[in-house]
Amino acid sequence: MSLINENFLRLHKSYLFSDIARKVKDFKEKNPDIRVVSLGIGDVTRPLPASAITAMHKAVDEMCRAETFRGYGPEQGYDFLRKAIVKTDFIERGVTIDIDEVFVSDGAKSDCGNIGDLFNADCKVGFTDPVYPVYVDSNIMGGRFAISHFPVTSENDFVPSLPSEKTDLIYLCYPNNPTGTVLTGEQLKKWVEYALEHKSVILFDAAYEAYIRQPDIPHSIYEIDGAKKVAIELRSFSKTAGFTGVRCGYTVVPKELVITADNGTKIGLNQLWNRRQCTKFNGVSYITQRAAEAIYTPQGQAEIRETTDYYMNNANYMKQELTNMGYNVYGGKNAPYLWLKVPQGETSWSFFDRMLHELAIVTTPGAGFGPNGEGYVRITSFGKKEDCIEAINRIKNWKNI
Ligand code: PLP
Repeated sequence: MSLINENFLRLHKSYLFSDIARKVKDFKEKNPDIRVVSLGIGDVTRPLPASAITAMHKAVDEMCRAETFRGYGPEQGYDFLRKAIVKTDFIERGVTIDIDEVFVSDGAKSDCGNIGDLFNADCKVGFTDPVYPVYVDSNIMGGRFAISHFPVTSENDFVPSLPSEKTDLIYLCYPNNPTGTVLTGEQLKKWVEYALEHKSVILFDAAYEAYIRQPDIPHSIYEIDGAKKVAIELRSFSKTAGFTGVRCGYTVVPKELVITADNGTKIGLNQLWNRRQCTKFNGVSYITQRAAEAIYTPQGQAEIRETTDYYMNNANYMKQELTNMGYNVYGGKNAPYLWLKVPQGETSWSFFDRMLHELAIVTTPGAGFGPNGEGYVRITSFGKKEDCIEAINRIKNWKNI
């Protein structure tokens, strides 16, 4: 008799964004003439950078000829892309990373879900609250239920306190989804010191690194001394270069990150992750990796800056307008998300529902990201500029505050 993984029964019945999609679908069916403006799910709207498209066309042509055809590639990614990543994302920021510490993947969601394969089910896991739900659900699927939460709210300026009890695996996402806030180097340093002292591992999700605008905010956890001994970093081309549909990201697992096994042997997580990827993953397509490589050219870098600036202009505009209307709005300075406090006494789901039904605007209710997300909604700036203007005009005429 086969047995199921009972851990799945501990999960919420459905994924947050599926619940929202269902409500929006229902609203659209009942109101076919009303145009819904989505500031909800974090998908992008700008096309791929021209340099990536040109590189993909060229790669497709190579696939057409027997001499240049590519089949299975290296599970870790092609060296041409790993070299470009190391040079631009790390060496140019003063961080030394070896190319065999970089593992190219089909995106950060897969990697942050899969990385749990490396850790024992007895590890105690810590998350900020609110949090990107994938971290929590994937740990529950893996049988890790000992969870501590680090609240991030306006009361603590969205700066999480260090764990009060020993935590083995710590997920940090900065710039943060959903709050749109960042940590300074000093604040991040405290987490690295905690991990060094307690032999914890930090899973640092830097999917929104390209949105940092203040020069003193770290883009990589490896900018902090000692971090290579304790941290794995996840990156994504999705929000940086519009790859949400193309699918590409990478994970850095430093060779200095070593854990002692039960029998006393020292095991490098780089070696374990390599073993895991070679077993369960067959690499990212050649065409996709050529596209990713192209965004590291001077032209590609200029193009992605233009795109991220477009979204950040949306964020700045909406934050300014909403603040002028009297809302308390956080984030949006170094991240494409605004975190808006809902009016006193209202829940985030009821505010979400009212915005949908009274204004035909989709947001994301903060409570869906964890108990401390209650009282907030997340607004994304990944929409078209015209839609952001339209949404703001609708909110301005709303008798709400
Ligand atoms: N990490 C965070 C914090 C995200 O918000 C997202 C996507 O929304 C991802 C990872 C997933 O990125 P990818 O598209 O590379 O899977």
